[in-house]
Amino acid sequence: MREGPRLMGVFRSLGDEFEEVVHFHDRPSGLQAIVAVHSTALGPALGGLRFYPYPSEEDALNDVLRLAKGMTYKAAAAGLDLGGGKAVIIGDPKRIKSEELLRAFGRFLDTLQGRYITSEDVGTGGDDMDTIRRETRSVVGCSPAMGGSGDPSPVTAWGVYKGLIACAEEMWKDPSLAGKRVAVQGVGKVGYHLVKHLTEAGASIVASDVDVDAVARVVREFDVDTAEPDKIHAQDCDIFAPCALGGIIRDDTVPSLRCRIVAGSANNQLASQEHGEALAELGILYAPDYVINAGGLINVADELRGYDRARAMARVEGIYRALRAVFLLATQERISTSRAADRFAEDRIDRIGRLRSYWVPGRSASGPRAVW
Ligand code: NAD
Repeated sequence: MREGPRLMGVFRSLGDEFEEVVHFHDRPSGLQAIVAVHSTALGPALGGLRFYPYPSEEDALNDVLRLAKGMTYKAAAAGLDLGGGKAVIIGDPKRIKSEELLRAFGRFLDTLQGRYITSEDVGTGGDDMDTIRRETRSVVGCSPAMGGSGDPSPVTAWGVYKGLIACAEEMWKDPSLAGKRVAVQGVGKVGYHLVKHLTEAGASIVASDVDVDAVARVVREFDVDTAEPDKIHAQDCDIFAPCALGGIIRDDTVPSLRCRIVAGSANNQLASQEHGEALAELGILYAPDYVINAGGLINVADELRGYDRARAMARVEGIYRALRAVFLLATQERISTSRAADRFAEDRIDRIGRLRSYWVPGRSASGPRAVW
């Protein structure tokens, strides 16, 4: 009897979930990169390039797999014709980032023939995307000078604001945010614009940030109240809007929440899936983070058609409809909104993905096609 090959650890960690995982190595520039394509069921996989000094290759692989899968769900829930993928470069960007290295990454990326499209993420920015663009078209998030979309934060904030209207409708059967008290954690690039929209809508704001200059700016411009960073989640308010770091909804913060809605731009707000269940049990409406903060993704994805800010802003309004659908599903199925969001995304991947056979560039006209 013939034995099959023994599985190495790396194949075990991929399971049958990932379509493709590629390791790139360019000795002269020191490039060590991993690209993970989780799914192209809905279209080419899009996701950012993280440049980070991972302690080990295993950590880098785990991170890129986790993040790639998250992008599949985010793109699906946003109604985009895109799949999910991610890339990581191992190393300290401050020490090893160079034009040679980024161009080597771009050349490698080009060999994937559009199955994965990169963008900026932690450790990379618009300038880096411009450099990569010199080698491949499989990149978005370039600077406006290169035909790119520039800073996505105002678009993300607009999407969060529209999402808050969906939340208000669900909770109070009234879309108006006038007179609502909103605690905003983090008034950086997204939080600042969100405070602006909310103030214009007549909401009252209590803001917090570890950066005193960021707080001073919103106090000066919008006359908001402030709270200490470790007290913001416990404010007596209608809406708690996490717009700083992930993991704010966890064992030690859930009992002190004094809000009816948790909805903001931060990624990975729930420390674990169980915390989504905990919010549901408390009757707190949670807007799943990857649904409400998809504005940035929708914005860069628009570059694939030749960027148009007005069109991107209009598409972001779909976040309102996506959240309404997620809330309806949660009610119908008696599940938490975080679980409902996953089902909502999976349902679209099943329904639409079935129509598109496995995406291979240049394959028959009846099959899936690239979006550019
Ligand atoms: P940012 O760095 O400009 O702003 C984050 C702000 O949070 C900073 O001002 C920082 O000082 C503050 N902060 C950090 N720790 C804090 C704490 N403990 N308490 C209070 N404030 C704290 O980042 P951003 O672009 O505004 O993004 C905010 C969040 O939204 C992040 O989680 C990001 O991943 C997510 N997000 C952003 C976009 C986008 O388009 N920028 C898109 C999707 C998701």
